[in-house]
Amino acid sequence: MQTAYQNAMEQLRKASEIAELNKDVLLKLQSPDRFIQVSIPIRMDSGELKVFTGYRVQYDNTMGPYKGGIRFHSDTDLDEVKALSFWMTIKCSVVGIPLGGGKGGVTVDPKVLSESEIEKLSRGYVKKLKGIIGRDIDVPAPDVYTTPKIMAIMADEIGDKAAFTGKPIENGGSLGRDKATALGAFYVFEKAIEKLSLSKDSKIVIQGFGNAGAVFAKILFDAGYSIIAVSDSKGAIVSDNGLNIDEVLKFKENTGSVINFENTKTITNQELLELDCDVLALCALENQVTDNNANNIKAKIVFELANGPVTPEADLILKSKEILVLPDVLTNAGGVTVSYFEWLQNINNESWSLEEVNTKLKEIMYKSFDEIYDIAKTKDIDFRMAAFVSALKRIEAKMEI
Ligand code: NAD
Repeated sequence: MQTAYQNAMEQLRKASEIAELNKDVLLKLQSPDRFIQVSIPIRMDSGELKVFTGYRVQYDNTMGPYKGGIRFHSDTDLDEVKALSFWMTIKCSVVGIPLGGGKGGVTVDPKVLSESEIEKLSRGYVKKLKGIIGRDIDVPAPDVYTTPKIMAIMADEIGDKAAFTGKPIENGGSLGRDKATALGAFYVFEKAIEKLSLSKDSKIVIQGFGNAGAVFAKILFDAGYSIIAVSDSKGAIVSDNGLNIDEVLKFKENTGSVINFENTKTITNQELLELDCDVLALCALENQVTDNNANNIKAKIVFELANGPVTPEADLILKSKEILVLPDVLTNAGGVTVSYFEWLQNINNESWSLEEVNTKLKEIMYKSFDEIYDIAKTKDIDFRMAAFVSALKRIEAKMEI
């Protein structure tokens, strides 16, 4: 299997052909502007010193300051962060916001760290990046296993709330940021099912039950959709009658996982991906649908809330099976869109109402979907390629080379 960054570059090559992209623009986009690896020494609660490895990749700032989350995960490495920073470049351009692409991460299992160790790690990461992140340079946000609280700590360390987004409201965060990724995805979902004439009885399966997946599940549940299976890192649960997501959320809060929720069957994450359903929402990590399992996917629509969950080989297989893939760079762009709103509010000393945030988010998501839908239909290409074409054309128009 190719690495995440190799996958990303393959997508770029394919899309640049369809977009007839200027060859110099393509060349420029085939490597990041800068990447940094740092060592972060932390005195653990036990008194032992541990040294963690952190990364920040600044991919491209043609459209504006670099923007992208910071991930705390044991599998995080430079290749992954490079891929994610490239996808951020595309994503910000897909939704037409004046920000470029960046991403960061620390190779760590945050679940085994105490609160004070996480705070030391967060401050340590920022200390090593002082001078290269900041409101006009590079504006990070939360990602897998990093939280609003961690963003507040990082903003405090650098001494500027506009240098980080995804903060708690009391630390300068925006109303609506916590649900923005899932709500943005829901706006795309509404548009997609309208085009495909799917009904509320459609069976939905959700992999991953964190910021993206659990909130998406809750919004769908409240809107009357039937979610038959969900999962987290410990495993998956399925119930043909549909899950009461309010109860699953309470259960997960009390027990730490969705597995063993009443009246459900426990299955593996692999089995969950292959369930008979209408919509499969991938909300965990990259490389989940690959050439090993794509042939077994039975969903009509694959909905990417995670970044890079379908490999290019799997994309081709899904296409041949006429399964529609709604790509990450569109579907999960609600998060960065409201991060942009937060940044704007911080810079201009404003506080927007929730209604204002959600109305602006909806406008951007609907408009982006329509643009991509039109490109897909006109050029007879899939939605991922259409999103890339739309983004690359915007970058090409602004890039000075
Ligand atoms: P999170 O840490 O809140 O949740 C991740 C979830 O995935 C957890 O429920 C975890 O148990 C589950 N998980 C981890 N490994 C798994 C595995 N192997 N199989 C199944 N489930 C697994 O993270 P999140 O913020 O929800 O991010 C999830 C994905 O969405 C990531 O790819 C992230 O980059 C992407 N994303 C998130 C946002 C956001 O605003 N939160 C925005 C854009 C994209």
